[in-house]
Amino acid sequence: MPELPEVETIKRDLETRILKKKISKVWVDEGFVKKISPDVATFFQLLKGKVFNKISRRAKLIYIEISNKMFLLIHLKMTGQLVFQAKKGELTVGGHPIVNVTDLPNKFTRVIIEFSDKSKLFFNDIRKFGYLKIVDQEGLDEQLLKTGVEPFDREYKFEYLLEIMKRRSNLKIKTFLLEQKLLAGLGNIYADEVCFLSEVKPTRRVKTLKKSEKELIFKYIKKVLAKAIKHRGTSFNTYVDSDGKTGGYQQFLKVYGRQGESCLRCKKGVIEKQKINGRSSSFCPHCQK
Ligand SMILES: [Zn+2]
Repeated sequence: MPELPEVETIKRDLETRILKKKISKVWVDEGFVKKISPDVATFFQLLKGKVFNKISRRAKLIYIEISNKMFLLIHLKMTGQLVFQAKKGELTVGGHPIVNVTDLPNKFTRVIIEFSDKSKLFFNDIRKFGYLKIVDQEGLDEQLLKTGVEPFDREYKFEYLLEIMKRRSNLKIKTFLLEQKLLAGLGNIYADEVCFLSEVKPTRRVKTLKKSEKELIFKYIKKVLAKAIKHRGTSFNTYVDSDGKTGGYQQFLKVYGRQGESCLRCKKGVIEKQKINGRSSSFCPHCQK
């Protein structure tokens, strides 16, 4: 699942590629019309002949200001991917790593936005959980209110974390970290990494955390995400060859995906994998307390 760093990376990449270009054609796959709003006809009408002025991100939602003062919202959800194809065919890929991406459009292509210089933006989605939606300013504000404070906001302070921890003190820390309405943008991979670096078992209830542990969690939430953005995320493919190159953060993962291997910190524990509230979680039973 593309997480905040991967979405931020594709947003930054698209910024230099899709802005100020006139939209000439829009295509939507028949099996995807329900994930387009308003209806497909209006969607076409609101995009054709317009340009994208600005691209922004809030948590894992991308929103693009269109020249008619409307906003195109794109959510990649579990398996969504955005691919920009330059006129000469060079690809910029972000989101879920779908293989054989060079084959475009492919059976997972749901939407194609073509620009007048013949470059194209493809929205591919294997499981069709993602969506594209056009809203006005009011609709955008409404949407943005649904997500909580994100770690790069000015409002993200230790006091804020303490306050939301108090409100949801019964949750297991892993579940708490994934609660997007409280804190937006931390997904499964990075939540595991935060728990590991803070030396806290993901199964602990929030109310059992000591102040020193909360301080570490506060610090690492921001650190882990900032470092992942710097390295273009984990599940990220940039200009890909047929093997699909992955994002550079992979090499910094300390616990995620390491089940059965010995712990990189204490060297004594073997990384365990357990489901917490339906989400697979990796941790060291020895040094995470
Ligand atoms: Zn350990």
